[in-house]
Amino acid sequence: MKVRGYAAMKANAAIAPWEFERRDLGAHDVSLDIKYSGICHSDIHQVREEWGSALFPMVPGHEIAGIVSQIGSAVTKFKVGDRIGVGVFVDSCRKCPSCLKGLQQYCIEGMTGTYNQLERDGKTPAMGGYSNIMVINEDYAVSIPENLPLDGVAPLLCAGITLYSPIKHWKAGPGKKVAVMGLGGLGHMGVKFAAAMGAEVTVFSHSPNKESDAKAMGAHHFVSTKNPDFNKSLIKHFDLILNTVSAELNINDYLQMLNVDGTLVVIGLPGKPYAVEVGSLLPARRSLSGSMIGGIAEMQEMLNFCGEHNIVSDVEVIKADYINKAYDRTVASDVKYRFVIDATTI
Ligand code: NAP
Ligand code: ZN
Ligand code: ZN
Repeated sequence: MKVRGYAAMKANAAIAPWEFERRDLGAHDVSLDIKYSGICHSDIHQVREEWGSALFPMVPGHEIAGIVSQIGSAVTKFKVGDRIGVGVFVDSCRKCPSCLKGLQQYCIEGMTGTYNQLERDGKTPAMGGYSNIMVINEDYAVSIPENLPLDGVAPLLCAGITLYSPIKHWKAGPGKKVAVMGLGGLGHMGVKFAAAMGAEVTVFSHSPNKESDAKAMGAHHFVSTKNPDFNKSLIKHFDLILNTVSAELNINDYLQMLNVDGTLVVIGLPGKPYAVEVGSLLPARRSLSGSMIGGIAEMQEMLNFCGEHNIVSDVEVIKADYINKAYDRTVASDVKYRFVIDATTI
């Protein structure tokens, strides 16, 4: 079927209107009318080839909230009119140990990304959520709780799950000191989740003007990293540090703040390696780890948690013709706290 979207035709090109084909509805597919599509910093990294060469034309977008408009003949999970979400992957092998455990994001064969990747047929380029219509296999979509607004929900499909998953895995909760590095799209969801789970939350930010917002989201402490001595009074302080920063930084300044057996989880993907000093790890048996989005069952658990706790992303809703400006503002850390495209303007 012919659909409308916004695409980059080549690396670094402006995002512009483009018509393209999506597959016809298969037996296990649903078609959704996209209502809102979030702008993740990963979209920008890929359009700008900051992670290496990419596939063009590229329709970015993997924070998708919409309403089911048609269902395939064998669909059992959804019906027409349901509010559903699609995140960072649209398929996986379904049979490897990771997929069988519900960790589709760590599929041994590799998950199928929502865009900038070929579908599992090895030839059809996947196209993302900056679009008016999407076709998705029912197993790779999730239900959105009725009480949550779709614009604030869209970013939960990447930014939300990407912080919820490590916060659950490393058991942030009462009695735990948790730090979030970077108060952007991902970071602000990390603050909301860690605070809702009862942890003591500190934000590290290079934008001092975000302090009152951080506290309103549930942070107990705010540290401006503009001061070169920002970590001095916090050595061996934290149990868990979640690094959502999209840019290069000195990771040792942060590792030193982990208490004994603490873990720093890398989530931001600046596209350049970190220089890790061995001396930052040994003196407290510290761990440096990584985490990538979350599986389908955990995405559903996260959305249900958001429904129960009334948690959504703080969004600035934009028209599609503002995407390029929104990219520049995101890179300048000038977004409160996620740009979301109103898909009716596509
Ligand atoms: P974002 O909204 O742009 O937030 C990034 C934040 O990092 C900014 O708001 C800023 O926070 C801080 N920052 C940016 N530039 C900085 C600089 N030069 N120095 C210090 N701090 C800086 O981006 P996002 O969408 O949250 O994504 C964050 C990163 O996570 C990206 O690299 C993205 O690709 C990656 N990501 C990873 C996963 C995963 O599964 N692991 C999933 C999605 C995205 P302050 O203003 O508070 O300092
Ligand atoms: Zn993302
Ligand atoms: Zn698999």
